[in-house]
Amino acid sequence: MLVETMVVGFVQTNCYLAWNEATKEGFLVDPGDNAPLILDTVRRLGVQVKLIFLTHSHFDHIMALAEVAAATGAKVAIHESEAAEIAAPSPATLRALGLPALQIKPAPADILLKEGDTLPCAGETLKILHTPGHTTGSVCIDTGKLLFSGDTLFEDDCGRCDLPGGDYSVMLSSLRRLAALPGDRVVYPGHSVSTTLARERQVNGDMLRALRSAQ
Ligand SMILES: [Zn+2]
Ligand SMILES: [Zn+2]
Repeated sequence: MLVETMVVGFVQTNCYLAWNEATKEGFLVDPGDNAPLILDTVRRLGVQVKLIFLTHSHFDHIMALAEVAAATGAKVAIHESEAAEIAAPSPATLRALGLPALQIKPAPADILLKEGDTLPCAGETLKILHTPGHTTGSVCIDTGKLLFSGDTLFEDDCGRCDLPGGDYSVMLSSLRRLAALPGDRVVYPGHSVSTTLARERQVNGDMLRALRSAQ
């Protein structure tokens, strides 16, 4: 599985294109902004996008969703508890951040995700881990080798928990759960650089706190 990272929008959100080298079938994670860049990349690499995953519904992960979904014909997948938010984006998070309201085109979900779902795509079995804490419906997408962690797990950090729907104690439970995944993963977070699960288990202060608080 190959992964192309596109940094999009004014809070530098990572949009990922992941695909199978042989079949060219793939999926996108978090088309946060800059639909022309995302669509050019899909075309340049010749990928057939089957699914668009949203790790959560914050504006910086969904602003190009409607345009990218329409252009690719891919099915849109988000946790069931945040589907209403992409069908009718609300200004609550923007307001909490002190930002002006943005016009975000609505894009209804085709697939409502829940904990433990598995979706076949690009020759992989994609497993959905419901990891609330940053938002109530945050998910990670796990291939067993790669983990698309949204704003749950970052390099040396985790997502903020002070926005509507956020809860740090719930975040700690989610981080504990990610730490307990067997073996290693390359982690592709919603912001900043990619890392590995093995490294984060060693040095991530929030993950270490989560592990300590379980004892
Ligand atoms: Zn977020
Ligand atoms: Zn974000």
